[in-house]
Amino acid sequence: MNSTWLRPLLAWAACATGAGAGYGLGAWLGHPLWMAAAGASAVVILLGAYDVAHAYRFLRWLRGPRALELGDATGLWSEVFFRAERTLKSLEHELLQEREQRSQFLSAIEASPNGVLLLDESDQIEWCNRVSAEHFGLDVQRDILQRITNLVRMPAFVAYLQGGSWSEPVVVEGRDPASALSVLVRRYGQGRKIVLSMDITERQRGEAMRRDFVANVSHEIRTPLTVLAGFIETMENLPLTETERQRVLLLMRQQTDRMHVLVADLLTLAQLEGSPRPSLDQWHRLAALLQRIEADGCTLSAGRHTLVFPVDVPVEVAGVEAEILSAVGNLVNNAVRYTPTGGRIEVSWVVRNGGDALLEVRDNGIGIAREHLPRLTERFYRVDGSRSRETGGTGLGLAIVKHVMQRHGGELEVESEPGRGSCFRLVFPSARVRPVGGLNPAASVVDDTATAP
Ligand code: ADP
Repeated sequence: MNSTWLRPLLAWAACATGAGAGYGLGAWLGHPLWMAAAGASAVVILLGAYDVAHAYRFLRWLRGPRALELGDATGLWSEVFFRAERTLKSLEHELLQEREQRSQFLSAIEASPNGVLLLDESDQIEWCNRVSAEHFGLDVQRDILQRITNLVRMPAFVAYLQGGSWSEPVVVEGRDPASALSVLVRRYGQGRKIVLSMDITERQRGEAMRRDFVANVSHEIRTPLTVLAGFIETMENLPLTETERQRVLLLMRQQTDRMHVLVADLLTLAQLEGSPRPSLDQWHRLAALLQRIEADGCTLSAGRHTLVFPVDVPVEVAGVEAEILSAVGNLVNNAVRYTPTGGRIEVSWVVRNGGDALLEVRDNGIGIAREHLPRLTERFYRVDGSRSRETGGTGLGLAIVKHVMQRHGGELEVESEPGRGSCFRLVFPSARVRPVGGLNPAASVVDDTATAP
């Protein structure tokens, strides 16, 4: 039989038995009043014992682990047990939900690219995410409840935290002296603080580069402008002979040409930065590009050098034609400008076994000392400023070459030795090289002997 029915039946049976026993005892004593009183007392005692047993069970359940079941009961106790269990279950459910929400919230903060650190009223660490721990050199577990000012050795941060005026963020030096953090403190709750930190090293570097760039451009433009202003003044104030006038005009033209080239290079750089990545379906015959570059190189050299270009290059390159022309053209232009009269400039094309292709511009000119090599592609970096300017250089050529190659998924390699010459190498990835008219990328033109003249 079901225990839901069994228990009340047993309880009633016990009461009935008790009442019967009481009644029997009363009858034995021989008076009907005694019989009724003894029967009623027996029922009250039995019901009292039943209540005490259930109350004890309830107390034990309240004290015990939550997993313990209350079990069944009858009458009022059944209702009490049911409601107590239901209330507890709903509280546990709410607690679980809150825990879940809290852990999701903390995971979201944990995933933040910025540092988040919570301090109590005494500046003791309550919680911090990994980024914050990294910024301040903390241990996420070990340093909890430690006072932050005892752990963080950043005088500017400590002064800011203790200063109490947090309307603006403060920029402090990171753990690595070359890095910078922007830190902001906000108050919350009762005297608690949240410390937000952001790594702004790259941003500061970018701002410094922009400042340098503007200063360099201004300087580069001011120089020819000053020269031009001087010539204009001369022409206004001095009676010049026709020969002198022609000479001054020539010098003025040279200065305006210089500004022209500078502005053109600046525009090229700006375009490179703002354009989408070159597509892989615009193929250009390298032979045709090299012919145009050879013609320009010969004009610039004016017979002072021996220029050697590959005779036949049966290859196509994918990318932006004007950019590839500009990259190779800059290298040939430099080779001519930095190679003394009588020197040799050689352009060659090789497809490596891996499928990458190299376009090499080699000269036997003045060469470059090793310490300058890492900085050559910086904007306006020149090894010899006066030689660069004398030969019409802007200091932007190699920056353009590097940019073009990066956009095409390739790179620029340089080898050089002072007094012996230089070799500038453009490395094109295999996906951008194919045989003329071919369908597949360079896999089919792998041939280390492909071109060298
Ligand atoms: P520039 O307009 O001054 O030539 P680039 O960016 O083209 O600027 O080159 C940067 C510097 O690298 C040059 O100023 C020059 O000192 C050096 N350089 C570039 N190419 C050569 C080369 N072929 N031989 C020697 N030095 C070179």
